[in-house]
Amino acid sequence: CGYVAVVGRPNVGKSTLINHVLGQKLAITSRKPQTTRHNMLGIKTEGAVQAIYIDTPGLHAGGQTALNRYMNRSALTALRDIDVCVFVVDRMRWTEEDEMVYERIKDLRCPLIVAVNKSDRLEDKLDMLEHLQWLQDKLPQAEIVPISALHQHNLDTLEQLIGERLPENEHFYP
Ligand code: GDP
Repeated sequence: CGYVAVVGRPNVGKSTLINHVLGQKLAITSRKPQTTRHNMLGIKTEGAVQAIYIDTPGLHAGGQTALNRYMNRSALTALRDIDVCVFVVDRMRWTEEDEMVYERIKDLRCPLIVAVNKSDRLEDKLDMLEHLQWLQDKLPQAEIVPISALHQHNLDTLEQLIGERLPENEHFYP
């Protein structure tokens, strides 16, 4: 069974994405950042591939409070053993928080898929294309997919890319 981590700064749409991919509400979605403090897990079986999805809200916990340190450590521990990392970013902006998340995942030894979310607003399509090119130059090792988690655009492509990078199962777990 394979492990898929979904990482990204707060409010970029991770929970919306995971809820749609898994078809159930596991993660809490909210406009307020850091609503979810624990790593959240969900499972999806498709054909010969079974995937455990991991949401790591503590990855970007900043500051030196005891709670933040704990959240951060448990997020990093969860990331040690994954097969695919899905890094969710915004269609237009790359912020310091994105940079911070990237610093924490860039040395993971697994394929990196960058899901460029909120690609539903097409009025600024040219800017977005430029941004996609910028992302590809910045992250040459990554596979880049524009998606809309909210409107479920291109999620099949994303899931296909994820599936191709997961090990096939000999045994299924209930
Ligand atoms: P998280 O903090 O990364 O888990 O982000 P959430 O999933 O809670 O989403 C944050 C906000 O972005 C919510 O208001 C979502 O409705 C919104 N959102 C998520 N995906 C999309 C999208 O594809 N398009 C648009 N326009 N909004 C989105």
